[in-house]
Order: sequence, then C-alpha cells, then structure tokens
Amino acid sequence: MTNSPIEKYLEDIYKRFIKNNDGQLADYIPELATVDPDRFGLVLATADGQVYKYGDTSDEFTIQSISKPFTYGLAISDNGFDYVDRKIDVEASGDAYNEISLDADTHRPKNAMINAGAITSTSLIRAASSEERYERIREFFSKFAARDLSLDQAVYNSELETGHRNRAIAWMLKNFDIIEGNPEEVIRSYFEQCSTLVSTEDLAIMGATLANNGVNPISGEEILDPSIVERILSVMMTAGMYDGAGDWMTSVGIPAKSGVGGGILGVLPGQLAIAVFSPLLDRHGSSARGVAAFETISSDLNLHIMNVN
Ligand code: GLN
Repeated sequence: MTNSPIEKYLEDIYKRFIKNNDGQLADYIPELATVDPDRFGLVLATADGQVYKYGDTSDEFTIQSISKPFTYGLAISDNGFDYVDRKIDVEASGDAYNEISLDADTHRPKNAMINAGAITSTSLIRAASSEERYERIREFFSKFAARDLSLDQAVYNSELETGHRNRAIAWMLKNFDIIEGNPEEVIRSYFEQCSTLVSTEDLAIMGATLANNGVNPISGEEILDPSIVERILSVMMTAGMYDGAGDWMTSVGIPAKSGVGGGILGVLPGQLAIAVFSPLLDRHGSSARGVAAFETISSDLNLHIMNVN
C-alpha cells in the first residue's frame, strides 16, 4: 500500500488499462513472442529524482528502439554535430521504423529514430573493435539508468538470426558511404544495443536524466551536454513514434520513444519522465496499452507540451 497520491493515480491507471488487450506480440523477432503479454508497469520520475511506480516496474525487457535517442546522443558527443548531421538528417520521416529509405540527394537517413538512422548512429560510436563499441554503449546506457545494465543473449541471438532486413539496411548505408567499417560488425552492435535489458523504472530514470538536462538526478553524474539533450528531445518529438508521430503529438503531446520490447518513454523537459511497459504492440510497433495509458495520463495531468494552462 502506498500513501502517495501519485502512486495511487498510477494504480488507477493500471487497473483501468490492464483490461485493454489490444495489439500483438512482436513476432518478427521470435524471442519477443515468448514474453507474458499481461505484464504492465508504470513509472513517473521527476527531473529532481522522485520516483513513483505501480505494477511490474522492476521486470526486465529489451530496450529495443528506445535505445536510439541515447546512442544518437553518444554519437554526437563522440563526433560533434556537424559530422553527425552530414550522416543523419533531422526530418520527420512519417516512415515505419524499418523503412528502407534514404534521402534521394544526400543518401542520409531521414532521422536517428528509424532503423536506418539508428544503425548509422551505432556505426559512429568510436571504438577499436565491435566488442568495445557495444561496451561503450552499454556503459553509457547504464550511466543514464544509474545501475549496471546487461544484455539479453537470447533476444540478441534471435535478432542476429532473423534480422535480415536490418542487415540489408546496413549494407545499403555502406553502399552510399554513410557508414564506415564493416556493416556486419555494425549490425551486431546495433542488435546488442537493442537487446540491452531495462526495467520500466530504469527507463523512467533514463528519461528523468534527459528531463534534467543530461544530469542524472539519482547519481548526480553529468552525462550529456545540454545542447545534445535538446537535440535528442527535438528528434524524439518529431520522429520518436515513427509514422504515428503526428497522431501521438496531437493526442499525447510529450516527446517520446517506443520500442518493440513494449516500452514507451516520454520526457517533458525540465519536469519529468514517464515510462510504460506492456508488450502487446499496435501497428506502428508501439505498446498498444502504453499508448492508451499515455493518452489518459497526459490529459488527466495536463501534460501536453503545447498546453499553456
Ligand atoms: N531491434 C528492433 C529492430 O531493429 C528494434 C525495432 C523497434 O523497437 N521499433 O527491428
């Protein structure tokens, strides 16, 4: 039992939306089809590090595409804006996450949230080997979560065996000189990155660090320059929900990123982060129960970023 009115509110949301069984498990990565579809976690973390939670908030799942804004930030931190911007554009694509599309003139992926852009971000992480590249990514995510995160080997193997579309994207990026190095090694690091295990609580703390301008409110560590945090949140706002980004922006109005592991992370700059986890996905590859819960939470708590009341 909790006395916190915020946790009581999250409990109400849980009870209301646990009945919503819309959506399907992600079966294009076979291992993801083995998770329990009923799991549901809700966490709200403020920019100053207060954490409120309800449900399956410490169960781990793979971060999947919610990794993309963080790796993008690390790529900019390693190489600077000019270099990264020559490789990845910042346009809302309206594309599905796995769209095989690059700009006709520059051949850049449209943004760092679709797979083509995210695979490019991964390729830009400075490292002497692919092992070192993932280790740097894992450590970076761990700093955001304020705890040591690990890899889900079974999901990684599953993506490695079946992720031919992503492999094709990596080779296409190589063809246009967007990625450097060996595409097969880059794609391995990308699959490892996506297969990093987080809990709903981890995601909320990672988001609270973005909300707090790159300083982790739990550890106090300065992880990312504020100019890079601003860039990450801008791209989340325009493209974080892929071809559902406009719908999300009008109905929820919180910069966010979803992943096919069932997580959704929303960040309100200077204020708070909300993380929801529930594995049944809608047609965009975002948690169906998560999207429904976010719509209600945003409206109940007046969180829409354009709402000036
Ligand atoms: N690893 C997944 C893929 O690349 C991530 C997709 C997602 O979460 N939308 O297909």
